Amino acid sequence: MHELAMTQSIIELVEAEARKHGADRVDKIKLRIGEFTGVVKEALEFSFDVIKAGTLAESAELEIEVVPLRKRCGCCDTVFGSTGDFDFFCPDCSGPVEIVSGRELQIEYIDLA
Ligand SMILES: [Zn+2]
Repeated sequence: MHELAMTQSIIELVEAEARKHGADRVDKIKLRIGEFTGVVKEALEFSFDVIKAGTLAESAELEIEVVPLRKRCGCCDTVFGSTGDFDFFCPDCSGPVEIVSGRELQIEYIDLA
């Protein structure tokens, strides 16, 4: 399960950060996850609940912001959302599109106790 390994690394990072600042507890973890990463928010929350036990993040609140997939056409500059699974052509002019957002996979901030 992809999310389980991911949560493991997130908690390791968060614990390292907490130790660096001499905190013995983490209050909150805020993540930004792009829609295009394929990461399932619920699976991530579930993994977090399983892995956090016994770590500095045991009582931490996990907030996940899902960043929607946005694409922009390289020809007509139209910006549009998810139009279909892997549609990388403009719905207006069929030009090639680039991803503007939706690939994020980051810890936005951590609140230490
Ligand atoms: Zn276009």
